[in-house]
Amino acid sequence: MQDNIQKLSNATAEKGTRVLVRIDCNVPLNSDGTIADTFRLEAVTETIKYLSGKGAKIIVAGAIGRPKGKRDESLTTKCVAEYFQDNVLEKCSYVNEAFGEQVNDAIDQCNPGEGIVLENLRFYEGEEQNDEAFAKELAGLADIYVNDAFGQCHRKQASIVAITKFLPSYMGLCLEKEVSALESVLNNGQDPVVAIIGGAKVSDKIGVIDALINRCDYILIGGAMAFTFLKAGRMAIGNSLCEDDYIDKVGPWMKTGKIFLPNDFVVAENIDSTEAEISKTIPSGYAGFDIGSDSIEKFIQIINSAKTILWNGPMGVFEKPQFAQGTNQIANAVADSNAYSVVGGGDSVAAIRQMGLENKIDHVSTGGGATLEYIEQGTLVGVEALKVR
Ligand code: AMP
Repeated sequence: MQDNIQKLSNATAEKGTRVLVRIDCNVPLNSDGTIADTFRLEAVTETIKYLSGKGAKIIVAGAIGRPKGKRDESLTTKCVAEYFQDNVLEKCSYVNEAFGEQVNDAIDQCNPGEGIVLENLRFYEGEEQNDEAFAKELAGLADIYVNDAFGQCHRKQASIVAITKFLPSYMGLCLEKEVSALESVLNNGQDPVVAIIGGAKVSDKIGVIDALINRCDYILIGGAMAFTFLKAGRMAIGNSLCEDDYIDKVGPWMKTGKIFLPNDFVVAENIDSTEAEISKTIPSGYAGFDIGSDSIEKFIQIINSAKTILWNGPMGVFEKPQFAQGTNQIANAVADSNAYSVVGGGDSVAAIRQMGLENKIDHVSTGGGATLEYIEQGTLVGVEALKVR
C-alpha cells in the first residue's frame, strides 16, 4: 500500500517554482548518439507537460548507462534535452553539469514553463553512493522534488532516496501509474489472477515466484526457466538451459497445483539453427528454444479465463523468428484478453511494442528490475523515500 505519499496534484507548483524532476532517461542510444527508443521519455511527458502548464521551471535529472562516476561524452543527456525541446516543451536546454554556477545560471534564464536537462547524474560518484552531499547540491537547485523514475526506484541513489530528505517530495504521474498498476495486480486485482513468467533464469525470479504463488491462481512458466521445472519433474531436457541448483527450490511450488508448464517445444540443435521442429520430448543433442503449439493453446485457454494478468519474460528466444511464435502468440492473447493486463520487464515489453500492441494492454511498464522487485517486496526503496515522515 502506498499511503502517505504526496501526489503531484498536491504539489504547490506555481509560476516560477523550481521543480527537480527525476526521470528514468536510461534510453538506448544509436552509434551517432541519437535515441534509439524514446519509450521512457514518452512515459514522463505527462508530468513534464503538467508542470509546464503550471508555469514551473522544470529541472530534469536522470542518467544514461553506467559511466561509474566518471564523465563519458558518449553517455551525455544532451539528447534528452533535444527530445524534450522537439516534442514536449517550448524550450528545453541542456547544461553540461548537474550542479554549480552554470546550472544556476541556466535555471535563472529559464522562463516559467520551460525546462533544462542536467548532465548525466552518474558522471558523479555521489549518485550511486546515495551520497547526501551530492543530494544536497541537487536539492539546492529546486523548491520541490518530483520522482517520476519508476525504472530507477529500486536503486538507492542520491537523486532517488537521499534527496527526499532535503526537499518536499512528490510522486510523478508516470510513477503513480506504475505503482497503481502493480497494486491492481498484487492487492486490488480481480480473481482469477494469471501470471505469465518467462525468460532465461529461475534464479532471477525466485522472490517473484514466491510472492506470486500466494497471490495468483495460475502461473504459466515459459522460456528457458521452464526446463528447471521440467527436470524437477524428471523429464529429459537434452541440452536445454537448466539451473540444477534450483531443482529443489521449484519442487514445492509445483506441489501448489498453480504452476503450468509447457508440454511441447520448438527444438533445435542450437540457438543458431534455422531448422527447428515441434516435439513433445527433447531428443538428446537438442534443446528447447520456444514453447510449442499445444502449450500455446493451453496457455491461451488459461489467459482467456483471467480477470487479471501479469506478464514478465519471453516464452522463448523471441529475438529469432524461428523461436518467436510462443512469445508473439502469448502477446496477442494478452492484448485480446478482457482482463486487466500489466506487462513488465524489458523483453516482454519489447515484444509487445514490436508488435504494436501497447494500446491493447492496460499498463506497459517502463521498468524491468523495478517491476520484479516491486512484486517481490511490495514496494521499492525510492517509493518508500517519498513517504511523508
Ligand atoms: P530474462 O532477461 O531473464 O527475461 O531472459 C530473457 C532472455 O531469455 C531472452 O534473451 C531470451 O532469448 C532468453 N530465452 C528465453 N527462452 C529461452 C530458451 N528456451 N533457451 C535459451 N534462451 C531463452
